[in-house]
Amino acid sequence: MITTNPFNEEHKLLRQSVRKFVETEITPNVEKWEKDHHCSKDVFRKMGQQGYIGSSFPENVGGSGMDFWAAVVVTEEMAKANIAGLSMSIYAHTHLPLPLIKAIGNDEQKRNYLTPALKGEKITALGITESNGGSDVFGMLTTAKDMGDYWELNGSKTFITNGTIADFVVVLARTGEASHFTLFIVDANTPGFSTLAIHNKLGMHSSDTAQLFFENCKISKANVLGKPGHGFYYQMNNFQEERLLAAVSATAMAEWALEKAKQYTKERKAFGKAIVNFQSLRHILAQMAVKVEACRSISYRAVAEFLEKGNKAEGIISMAKAFTTEESQWVINQALQLHGGNGYVEDYGVARAWRDARLLTIGGGTTQIMYEIISKLVLDDVKHENKLAGAKA
Ligand SMILES: Cc1cc2nc3c(=O)[nH]c(=O)nc-3n(C[C@H](O)[C@H](O)[C@H](O)COP(=O)(O)OP(=O)(O)OC[C@H]3O[C@@H](n4cnc5c(N)ncnc54)[C@H](O)[C@@H]3O)c2cc1C
Repeated sequence: MITTNPFNEEHKLLRQSVRKFVETEITPNVEKWEKDHHCSKDVFRKMGQQGYIGSSFPENVGGSGMDFWAAVVVTEEMAKANIAGLSMSIYAHTHLPLPLIKAIGNDEQKRNYLTPALKGEKITALGITESNGGSDVFGMLTTAKDMGDYWELNGSKTFITNGTIADFVVVLARTGEASHFTLFIVDANTPGFSTLAIHNKLGMHSSDTAQLFFENCKISKANVLGKPGHGFYYQMNNFQEERLLAAVSATAMAEWALEKAKQYTKERKAFGKAIVNFQSLRHILAQMAVKVEACRSISYRAVAEFLEKGNKAEGIISMAKAFTTEESQWVINQALQLHGGNGYVEDYGVARAWRDARLLTIGGGTTQIMYEIISKLVLDDVKHENKLAGAKA
């Protein structure tokens, strides 16, 4: 059962260490990385060396051997730098493709890809979304053909986090009729593979987002991940860590915004007094605090169930993802309002949080797709005419 404080001594030491790292290695670089539209590759290496990337992975593959609460600690502390783009880049590296390699990769794949990625020596990405298929994964057109000695990969992906900076990408491609899909590990130096950065995003500027193109890419049979034909099933079981960390991130961003709003309303004066003295504003702060607590409760409960039941906790994880990502936007929007004109300019950071948070109800499965999963799993008396065969569900 979840307690109000699920963190042990090891987690607390990790938190202190990440907090210091954020202050010295991340906060001073925020403006530069936002302007560059990606973070430095060095930050992956440094976080890998400190054990932050592999905190919740087993020691025998290069992780620190802690549980998933360690990943929660890293995500919460990173939110304090108000650079959600970097945070997303790190968890899109650690918790999107790497759990797949951990779960279904062979020893050689773990040695060549998982371990160097956990150490931050190689950067990675997960390529699922296509212009034709986001929520509807079945809509994808990328194909791979078995050529005997190798597979030939053709097609494209879009909106891929870490796309241009990745050393390898885990790619889902159609390899037969109906639900016959296969996962491949594609090295970035494979002839025929190219990328195009997407820079005109609303927010998350410090994360690299890209289109990926595959033109007659020869993929070695050694780079097939898991069994050919089972890729769709593997990937549908691989969304839980991403969704949990989206919930944790959303909560931490909302909490950051609440703190900013508390501080600002105490300092800002209007009509002869600090604006926190207006009851209507105090009530907004109170509502923000209630929502932050509710977000934390549901996301911690989802993490606790994930640790107990693994992917069978999908129902509560989907609820946590839907609830926290929607509610955090309300909280951050109120924080912006309480800053008045200063909220609308860059100097106070709330404008960046507002833009960044907007992605969270879209990426990793939209709120509508979360409700679809919840209605199937939890409201089992509801009849479904639309079976959503290929949805991110
Ligand atoms: C910055 C960024 C980073 C991303 N990073 C990655 C990444 O690293 N890897 C990756 O593979 N993808 C990534 N994505 C893609 C992301 O996962 C998709 O954008 C998301 O799943 C939604 O898919 P879509 O954009 O095709 O929207 P669509 O699926 O076209 O949805 C459009 C609208 O229709 C709604 N809708 C769709 N189907 C249903 C339904 N059955 N019932 C009700 N409503 C529905 C949606 O909720 C949405 O409101 C990223 C996207 C962005 C913007």
